[in-house]
Amino acid sequence: MTLLSCYKPDKTGFFRHRRLAGGYLVTGDTGNFDFLTDREFKDFLSGCVKPGSAVHARLRDAGFLGGGADVTALAAKWRRKNSFLFGGPSLHIVVLTRRCNHACSYCQSGSSASRSGKADMTRPVADRVLDTIFSSPAPALTVEFQGGEPALNWPVLSYMVAAIENRAAKSGKKVIISLVSNLSVMTEARLDFLLKRNVRICTSLDGPQALHNANRPFPGGNSHAMAVKWLKAIKKRTRGGAHGDALVTVTRAALSRWKEMVDEYVKLGTTGIFIRFLNPFGAAKRVWASIGYSAAEYVAFYGKALDYIVELNLSGKSSIMEHSARILLTKILTQGDPNFLDLRSPCGAGIGQMAYDYDGSVFTCDEGRMLAAMGDEAFRIGAAGPGKYGGIMANPALKSVVTASVTDIQVSCASCAYKPYCGVCPVYNYAEHGDLFMHQPGYRCAVYMGMFDHVFKLLRNKKVRGLFEKWANSKPA
Ligand code: SF4
Ligand code: SF4
Repeated sequence: MTLLSCYKPDKTGFFRHRRLAGGYLVTGDTGNFDFLTDREFKDFLSGCVKPGSAVHARLRDAGFLGGGADVTALAAKWRRKNSFLFGGPSLHIVVLTRRCNHACSYCQSGSSASRSGKADMTRPVADRVLDTIFSSPAPALTVEFQGGEPALNWPVLSYMVAAIENRAAKSGKKVIISLVSNLSVMTEARLDFLLKRNVRICTSLDGPQALHNANRPFPGGNSHAMAVKWLKAIKKRTRGGAHGDALVTVTRAALSRWKEMVDEYVKLGTTGIFIRFLNPFGAAKRVWASIGYSAAEYVAFYGKALDYIVELNLSGKSSIMEHSARILLTKILTQGDPNFLDLRSPCGAGIGQMAYDYDGSVFTCDEGRMLAAMGDEAFRIGAAGPGKYGGIMANPALKSVVTASVTDIQVSCASCAYKPYCGVCPVYNYAEHGDLFMHQPGYRCAVYMGMFDHVFKLLRNKKVRGLFEKWANSKPA
């Protein structure tokens, strides 16, 4: 007799489940979850959970029991968790140049050292981009400068920072400005300019020097030394580095070096480390044999790195936080949304973010722009400029991407226990198999499934749960 043969649907509320760590994880659409033993799960399915027991109270409060759920409270929770649907695009990624002085092995941005200034955004284009950005109804905006190396187009970068300040003052919108830079052309004067204007600076630091420099060759320079030098300077000037952040892109060479990678960040005194996996499409696909790995290899690596970070925290040796875990935990443990646009349903493409190429072309997101840099403009949704916002939002490609990223309509996600916290990526699907929908659980799904498994397993430990509650409720720098 299978477990499900005792299932009495009228005795339970809606739920999804997954076998995990010798028991069952049960989740609901509002993100509520519970861990049940085999016995408890069987009782739950058959409607035999004893009223008055602790497990009955937990299941009732989470809305998992049939009949007694507080539907109004659950609906309010669902609305809060999905309030991003009503906000409009808040993240605007602006490519100031496609030029770059690095030759990173995993670069997807279509950048090149040999490009001329013709690949730079000009001031008139910058004005048009700002017209579109400030047309968004979102009351709070983030403008993120990327490249290439955006600081190579410093005249337009500094021009836009000042123009954003003016437009923010006039419009009453709150604006966060962020610069994603390899820091190789940073100077004291530029840092002064940026910090005075509260610009957040984010760089890549892939671990110890040999690993970082192998991933991120800088002809004629030392990429690791520059990143570390300026991260230290930012930390010193901001008394804790709240404006300087770094992220790790994991390549095959890093898989066995999780401890050294984390130690490098601890040594630097950063508050967090953001560990990210490689996507096997676009430019990375060409070199996948040398830098790529399987989803299982990444999940094993990530689990070890996260366990080590947890151990450092619980032993009091460091208070460093891992940001991928923080994002998942904010979705799992709180009623808020971490504003991570790739794990939403629908995803953030067009409705949460837009990306602007140096020539003013607008894309659903940066990944859509990267495909265009490789010659496929499927995710181009218009050109920036005054009065263009409505047309961009009505673009059929945008509507298709939004529809295709609703997890309820993906066969695998509809019954997945992690659906309330997860998201699918139409750009990934398109690059992978030529259409926007997820055909079957692939690499990206397997990575997230493994990460969710690991995080949920850790959540069963009370001490770790306490730490994870702190991470989930923290505000990222
Ligand atoms: S993408 Fe994979 S892990 Fe995420 S909800 Fe869908 S099936 Fe689950
Ligand atoms: S299409 Fe993919 S990369 Fe673009 S916003 Fe959606 S999930 Fe993110």
